[in-house]
Amino acid sequence: MKKRHSPIPTFFLKLLQEISNSGIHFVFPRFCLLCRSTLIEHSQLICDSCWELLPEADDSATITSQISSQLHEDCYFKSAFSLWKFSSQTQTIIHYLKYMEFKRLADNIGYFMSLKLKRLNFPENDTIIIPIPLHKTRERERGYNQSSLICQSFVKGTDFQCLDKCVIRTRYTKTQTKLSAMDRHKNVSGAFKVVDPVKLKNKVVLLIDDVLTTGATMNGCAKELNRFGVKEIHLFSAVKA
Ligand SMILES: [Zn+2]
Repeated sequence: MKKRHSPIPTFFLKLLQEISNSGIHFVFPRFCLLCRSTLIEHSQLICDSCWELLPEADDSATITSQISSQLHEDCYFKSAFSLWKFSSQTQTIIHYLKYMEFKRLADNIGYFMSLKLKRLNFPENDTIIIPIPLHKTRERERGYNQSSLICQSFVKGTDFQCLDKCVIRTRYTKTQTKLSAMDRHKNVSGAFKVVDPVKLKNKVVLLIDDVLTTGATMNGCAKELNRFGVKEIHLFSAVKA
């Protein structure tokens, strides 16, 4: 039986987050945010065994057909795939990354995503990586775009080119969490704009986001990218909710 832990107090999380982001974590007793075991030297925030135990996502064919059938519009992508399934652990990791400023979690997530692409033999040449953008107001509120951080880690040691600023979000949309599939589609419809199309023509695009739910957001972004002569678009998320 897995031991359940009481929540970590907020002030303590804040302290851990500041220490983690500053890179001086060796001065502090370090433990895993998920299982509370002591971290060994090279680990940060989450222990190796917790990373290894995260539930692997379904295969691409399953995820692609699932979100294609949920979307209330045409699909503008060729395939969709994810690293992990939704679970209390993956939910906690994404929560810490997005809302608690544990930005260094993006290092691990991006690294694991790049390993998955290697396993899939995804071609690196002529593929560009684009993180789903946040509206500039939301990015200012949060201080960072978690998908951009994932991409920065993702492309390290690969030949992928990351285009972080070629598409922007023009509308400050409501959070999608409590919306139905139809409302999600309406919420993101026309919310993206390509501002630098020069490098898109004939490229394979890998769109990256932290969480793929109904696919409405990523498909909305793919629809806009499709107007600029891209060859094909694939969606890749850390978690499939
Ligand atoms: Zn752990």
